[in-house]
Amino acid sequence: MSQFTILVVEDEEAIRSMLVMVLQQYHFEVLAAGDVAEAQLILEDTLPDLILLDWMLPKVNGDEWTRRLKASENFRDIPIILVTAKGEEADKIRGLDLGADDYVTKPFSPKELVSRIKAVLRRSGKIHDLTQIKFQDIILDTTQHRVSIADHVIDISPTEFRLLSFFLSHPDKVYNRTQLLDQVWGRSVYIEERTVDVHIRRLRKILANYQREDWLQTVRGFGYRFSDKNI
Ligand code: CA
Repeated sequence: MSQFTILVVEDEEAIRSMLVMVLQQYHFEVLAAGDVAEAQLILEDTLPDLILLDWMLPKVNGDEWTRRLKASENFRDIPIILVTAKGEEADKIRGLDLGADDYVTKPFSPKELVSRIKAVLRRSGKIHDLTQIKFQDIILDTTQHRVSIADHVIDISPTEFRLLSFFLSHPDKVYNRTQLLDQVWGRSVYIEERTVDVHIRRLRKILANYQREDWLQTVRGFGYRFSDKNI
């Protein structure tokens, strides 16, 4: 399976960062926007697997954007979960009428949110199994936070776990440091690019214990890729 990208549209900074953090902890790739205009820009280069959309937004509201997306040929298939503040019955019904796939009512627990997201992804046919990512004899279990290589369960820190999870979901593709920072650490976090190298080295060390370090390849002048093929 590949990893899933979720676009979070929320104007309140604190809630937005919280949502980004929670979703990253559950191994989603997360893109975030503060309003519809920003979200629209993101859609120009990335098609998310799901949009988590706040109902109350400045300028264009969540319900209005839902209506527009569902009317557009390019974006109508992206599932939308609306986030409503008060849980007013009328809002929920209107949201679903407009084509939203589900809604959650603030406040909600991370667990509830994630299970709603998974349910919508499942219904939309995007996932059958969210738990395991396999690459040759490496098996990464996202629910149990466990990695095994050649049947050995290995010790791995959360950051290396996310990095490995990203690479395993995107084999053979080259990513530069900025892209890895965006994808693995998230755009909202400021970290120096050197940090990426540090974690790559740690991950390589882990892989080296099982003679798999050649799979985490440095592409000179560009970045890194995970592949069992030679460059
Ligand atoms: Ca809002």
